[in-house]
Amino acid sequence: MRVIALLLATVMLFACSDNEDPVPQKEAVDVTHDYFSFANTDQFVTDHIKLNLTVDFDLKELRGLVTLKMRRLDPAASHITLDTRDLHIEGVLVNGAEAGFEYTQQHPKLGQALTITLPGGLEQQHDLLVKIHYKTDPSATALQWLPKELTAGGEHPFMFSQSQSIHARSWIPLQDSPSVRITYEATIHTPARLLAVMSADNDPLTPRSGEYHFNMPQPIPSYLLAIAVGNIYFAPIGEVTGIYAEPEMLDASTFEFASTQQMLDTAASLYGPYQWGRYDLLILPPSFPFGGMENPRLSFITPSVLAGDQSLVSLIAHELAHSWSGNLVSNRTWRDVWLNEGITSYLDARLIEVLFGKERADEERVLSYRELLLGLEKVSPAMQALAPVESIDDPDESQGGVHYQKGQLFLQHLENTFGREAFDPFLAAYFKNFEFQSISSEQFLDYLDQNLLTKYPGKFSREQAEEWLYQPGLPADTPIPHSATLEEAARNAGSWAAGELPVNDIPVSDWSPHTTVHFINSLPLELTEGQLIELDESFGFSESRNAEIARAWFIQVAARRHQPAYQAMELHLIRYGRTRLIYPVYIALAKNGVDAELAHELFNGARDNYHPLTNSAIEHGFRKTE
Ligand SMILES: [Zn+2]
Repeated sequence: MRVIALLLATVMLFACSDNEDPVPQKEAVDVTHDYFSFANTDQFVTDHIKLNLTVDFDLKELRGLVTLKMRRLDPAASHITLDTRDLHIEGVLVNGAEAGFEYTQQHPKLGQALTITLPGGLEQQHDLLVKIHYKTDPSATALQWLPKELTAGGEHPFMFSQSQSIHARSWIPLQDSPSVRITYEATIHTPARLLAVMSADNDPLTPRSGEYHFNMPQPIPSYLLAIAVGNIYFAPIGEVTGIYAEPEMLDASTFEFASTQQMLDTAASLYGPYQWGRYDLLILPPSFPFGGMENPRLSFITPSVLAGDQSLVSLIAHELAHSWSGNLVSNRTWRDVWLNEGITSYLDARLIEVLFGKERADEERVLSYRELLLGLEKVSPAMQALAPVESIDDPDESQGGVHYQKGQLFLQHLENTFGREAFDPFLAAYFKNFEFQSISSEQFLDYLDQNLLTKYPGKFSREQAEEWLYQPGLPADTPIPHSATLEEAARNAGSWAAGELPVNDIPVSDWSPHTTVHFINSLPLELTEGQLIELDESFGFSESRNAEIARAWFIQVAARRHQPAYQAMELHLIRYGRTRLIYPVYIALAKNGVDAELAHELFNGARDNYHPLTNSAIEHGFRKTE
């Protein structure tokens, strides 16, 4: 997934808090325990689930039946505990017999535990079929129900899910822990003419019947369960790649993402066969809160990367790379999420390098490093470790985006040390060794030690690897990425600001969008209103349809209180719903010393267009500025 720092409010560690002790203490946590799930996965485990759901746009609900095929691990266990959030459970059957069930109270982050008492006579039963009749609540955190006005076509409603990290439980009662892998099948009933797609075996030729059947034969963690329903059509890109989107966005999307098949072939040649059959992209309406979500076989993608020039396709490289790091080998608990995101960030830069050259890949590496430095300023030392081992005092505290970029640098450091001729085969072997498993940071460390560090002794010690995993900040010998083009752009920004370089001599039209972003980010603090107007009139930043250039520019506009561009900034905040693009603009506005009220006003005017996760991230950000 590609997200913004603070959005990972759910990816955090919960303290085993001791209420009798008035002094907050840092406690070591059991790193193999999933603190984000109520499920008793040490007693029962789910192997397969079967869904039969009706999609009701009028009531904003999914309703129907889920069947969990479970296995008993503990002969003495008499209750099954599942994760739920705001679900309405209507009845439970276990192996055909009615079963009693009860909920715990709602936990603000984790939802409710649903405890099912096994009916008499099943005490020794090893295989259990748990059937649950239920419906979702309109407030389900995983589901967004868009009215037709918020779609590209404007004629049909749209619904999509976002299960990561712990939201699958708001549309299916299940063991919602990445340590449990399941296969699934589903029958989905939709209004006639609309198409349902899932993270499963979508058939591009399926008739639009209003009843759709899916099968996912490879075991996946619950956070990769995904569904979308809308006026969706298909267009092929390559042999096993294609686009699902509203018809209004199909042509632009097939042009923008034309390199997808080549990316897939490249990744497979480096890291081992692509194991999921097809790889398609679903282009969502603008309110999709993230850049992308690596739902297997069908990545969900923001339309904000439709730049018209393929300049933002590193997002696709990222979601595709998750087919290895994340989907094939998954984090065991959310504390190990760097195994998904850090390794994927490293892989996506490698793919961009093959497809678009080293210069562009280095530009993206430098921008990512800058985001890491900004992230490290905001994240507590304990959460700066790639694999945190301490409990935390503030449950809203998280790793920010640090685990993405710091993880990427860790792998870059290993690559520099051992060389690609050793490191690439090591990674391919790692994916093969742990395929279709969910592993901990410590399993990674042991595998690294045995298969790379010890194999080429004297180059990189286990202690060095442990420093990356368990210590805050960055080790002293961290490789710092460089890009000649970006450094030149930063020099241009300084010279122009100092009056040494005429604006017409800044070669923006020759630059990549990344270079332009870096130029904007490198503008000195002290600039006059006249200088900002000169820049905008010369280069049209306020009118840019490249979402990353617009983002960088409007952060500056808001932070510097550059009012001549406020109207354009408002349009930016309405045009996009992706959290990354709007969150920092709102926060910069709220923090500029004058416009906190305006920031709230603009947000209240636009929030109906945004996803609930985006809204809660922005609200959380506002609270922190107060
Ligand atoms: Zn990701």
